[in-house]
Amino acid sequence: MSSETKTISVNGRDYRWPDKPCVVVCIDGSEPDYIEEAIKAGVMPWMQKVVEQQGVDLRAHCVVPSFTNPNNISIVTGVPPVVHGICGNFYYDRDGDREVMMNEPSLLRTPTIFKAFQDAGAKIAIITAKDKLRRLLGNELRFGADGAICFSSEKSDQATLAENGIENVLELVGMEVPSVYSAELSEFIFAAGVKLMERERPDLMYLSTTDYIQHKFAPGSEGANAFYAMMDRYWAQLDALGAVIALTADHGMNAKHDAATGEPNIVYLQDEFDRLLGPGRARVILPITDPYVVHHGALGSYATVYLPDGADIDGLTKQMLEIDGIDLVYGNREGCERFELAPDRMGDLILLSRRDTVIGTTAARHDLSGLDVPLRSHGGLTEQAVPLIISRPVSGLDRGRQLHNYDAFDVALNYARH
Ligand SMILES: [Zn+2]
Repeated sequence: MSSETKTISVNGRDYRWPDKPCVVVCIDGSEPDYIEEAIKAGVMPWMQKVVEQQGVDLRAHCVVPSFTNPNNISIVTGVPPVVHGICGNFYYDRDGDREVMMNEPSLLRTPTIFKAFQDAGAKIAIITAKDKLRRLLGNELRFGADGAICFSSEKSDQATLAENGIENVLELVGMEVPSVYSAELSEFIFAAGVKLMERERPDLMYLSTTDYIQHKFAPGSEGANAFYAMMDRYWAQLDALGAVIALTADHGMNAKHDAATGEPNIVYLQDEFDRLLGPGRARVILPITDPYVVHHGALGSYATVYLPDGADIDGLTKQMLEIDGIDLVYGNREGCERFELAPDRMGDLILLSRRDTVIGTTAARHDLSGLDVPLRSHGGLTEQAVPLIISRPVSGLDRGRQLHNYDAFDVALNYARH
């Protein structure tokens, strides 16, 4: 390695220019047990080799709320939500009295690592499962024939050079457009990633899956192991093509139902506030909500609440903590400090539920008919542990440092021995 290795600075952090393609994979909802159980079952031979000999199995924390958007954006900016501004899948704009999906690039307060590297001449490739993340991840990138590549498997048939930096994706991958609720939606990402690694050899690649499987199947189950075995085969191919791979997750996943009955454990928080303050006086926001809720019914372990002027925050905090299933309640400032969130995108109270419990608004507003298996979900502190596995050994990393999933590019570019 030459002494004049280029370094790219973005959002207050420095990243070494990769001498081999660097691939960061965000496995949506990958509680660490999924990989451990799949290795035990003997269905991830490549991963087993990586964690036992070839690379390193670090553990990390994700950002709380342990939801998809804030964590994906943290990973690709290298900083927590207090800096980049994406604190949930959506938020309540108090001034405009409207609930806003956090899919709009205008809500992003910092550039991405990809933008900084592209400006310095790097080739970037980003593939996501659902299209909702694509525009945030590809924010400010230049596309076109020689630009970045950024598309979703959901809308892979609609990719154009102008918008996505690539066309004819289905031909390249040799698959049909998968259903948005399927394992194939994620498989498509890796199949495309391998083809792009062969054809384009990007400097940085980011592959981000969907947690449809993890919402349905527990670690070690047949459905989960088949999914992890599939990913293992593609990662082995990326490794064989010479990429340095960092694997992490946006959040974990836990059972949120009664083990005996299979019924979900739900605290309907809007009902509680309506009872205490009168109907509609407080507004409960569940930042897990997005347009695709069939697999979790918009139920997660995190909520934020906007209170009417003059509300007794201390008194309400005490009353909320008395509810069975509510574990932690913070005021805005305290909660935003603890979880590194942007105070202007959070309500007056932040509530987290117990490991086996989720928070809803009112019973009437949650459609549970799509839950064909007992509820598994995320959002809270109990889904904060995530894997951080590097396909190569690392050196120089302070072992006492609390790693986050948003250190994935840092570890892969600055500490992995290539
Ligand atoms: Zn997720």
